[in-house]
Amino acid sequence: MIDAPSNNHAPRGSPVAHLVLHHTAQPLDVSLDLLRFGRVSAHYVVDVNGDIYRLVAEDRVAWHAGLSWWGEAQGLNESSIGVEIVNMDGNVHDYPDAQRDAVIGLCRAILARHPGIAARNVVGHSDIAPKRKDDPGGRFFWRALASVGVGLWPVASAAGGPADEADLLAVLRRIGYPPPHRYGTRAGRQAYVDNSDESAFADIVEVDAADIIVAFQRRFRPARIDGRADAECLALARALDAACARA
Ligand SMILES: [Zn+2]
Repeated sequence: MIDAPSNNHAPRGSPVAHLVLHHTAQPLDVSLDLLRFGRVSAHYVVDVNGDIYRLVAEDRVAWHAGLSWWGEAQGLNESSIGVEIVNMDGNVHDYPDAQRDAVIGLCRAILARHPGIAARNVVGHSDIAPKRKDDPGGRFFWRALASVGVGLWPVASAAGGPADEADLLAVLRRIGYPPPHRYGTRAGRQAYVDNSDESAFADIVEVDAADIIVAFQRRFRPARIDGRADAECLALARALDAACARA
């Protein structure tokens, strides 16, 4: 563990309840510079060789999640620990074994220190900010993490064919995924858009059903990410929902 303190942190207003995993989309040196001296931060950065940098103490808020929504929680910085993993794009590049092992060890230690993080609340940035974010990507090792008790991995099989989109969205909502929604930008900041306040925003981004399904597929069925409700997705979502209820 290498101490590399960040300038960007704040006191926590709520207990730790989420663990959020990211890819950096930048090399190590650029990432450390942004996360220590820029406008954002994270609790940890894990390099490709497995070196772990500690930037922010776990009892402080770091600024890694941004506009985000999971279950009943919005704005997950307050309640989360954020881990940035060095990879230019986890949808394209595999994570090396040494890095994977370091992340697994780090996540296990974080969960041991924070029993308030429920299994369903081990999430990727793309889970909590669909459409806006796609990290840590379809090549991330979620299954390996779940096999050692970090997060959940659903096992299900189903024949091909379409499934009802509303059914799938309802199950995804129970798991934690946000419903379809809109967000806007104002003075460089993002916020969820309320009908009464639309004119205040420069751009409105629609996050629709397909975007929510893509987020689920990117994590749990990366072999085909097409935003369509199909029988396999519905079976996986139901298996995951059942695992969330048991956990
Ligand atoms: Zn991220």
